[in-house]
Amino acid sequence: MLIKNPTTPLTEIFDPILSEKQIKLFIKREDLTDDFISGNKFYKLKYNLIEADKLRYKTLLTFGGAFSNHIHATAAAGKKYGFKTIGVIRGEEHLPLNPTLSSAQGNGMIIEYLDRISYRNKYDENLINRLKNKFGDFYLIPEGGSNHLAVKGCAEIIPQIKTKFDFVCTACGTGGTLSGLILGLNSNAKAIGFSVLKGSNFLNNNVKNFLSGFEKENLSNWQIVFDYHFGGYAKINSGLINFCRNFKSRHNIEIEPIYTGKMLYGVFDLIQKNYFPQHSVIVAIHTGGLQGLRGLEQRGLL
Ligand SMILES: *Cc1c(COP(=O)(O)O)cnc(C)c1O
Repeated sequence: MLIKNPTTPLTEIFDPILSEKQIKLFIKREDLTDDFISGNKFYKLKYNLIEADKLRYKTLLTFGGAFSNHIHATAAAGKKYGFKTIGVIRGEEHLPLNPTLSSAQGNGMIIEYLDRISYRNKYDENLINRLKNKFGDFYLIPEGGSNHLAVKGCAEIIPQIKTKFDFVCTACGTGGTLSGLILGLNSNAKAIGFSVLKGSNFLNNNVKNFLSGFEKENLSNWQIVFDYHFGGYAKINSGLINFCRNFKSRHNIEIEPIYTGKMLYGVFDLIQKNYFPQHSVIVAIHTGGLQGLRGLEQRGLL
């Protein structure tokens, strides 16, 4: 199975604060990877799909929340590359299906719900066996899609950036994407992750573990910033929403407030605070996730 990387633009951002601080900022538009397999999720799935195909699996099973970009992308990837997909969703069923799950189901994903307590132990052998009895054998992709092969895929984002830069920034959930970026760097550039979760010091360990899978645990060209989670995962406030709206109207690039919005808010705040040396070139990865906007709108959160 051959899966070609998308080519997406690198868009320079012009803003008075950037000229004042003499910083160049580019957005790598991974939101434009694919209509459905958007953003970093394409790169996280790529080598998992290739591996599943090599091992002759016909079915992919994965886990996620009801608004998960990963669930949405896995369903779309299954349809595009010829796998059956099963999405195990945290919590109970709510009808009608929200836009994420209805798109996933439209792409052929079988939706299975798991109560929140069992979900906490989702990799438990008994549960996996129960799922295998129900659905037959499957290739398991972990929640959020982060594993060794996902990190390998995300490393391929770096060579797609055709300009010299000093910093590459990304939003961090599990740290899989950040780990890939770190591995992809082969210059003096530094990778900065912006945690979208509260109390997420575990993220540093996640990244170290992913790196050690490549025997690169000694790399120190990275950092995770924990100051821009806005209260926790999917927590948003009006300042953040206004930032996302303004960003869109000024730069004509849509961003959502769960991941890329928080990261860019942090990037601009750090620029304001002179965190980046003058003449730095920053590349911020737009990791996609715009499908989630419809769910936020439906819940009246935007
Ligand atoms: C999943 C996701 C992330 C987080 O990626 P990790 O590899 O889990 O850190 C960032 N941005 C968007 C839009 C996502 O959907």
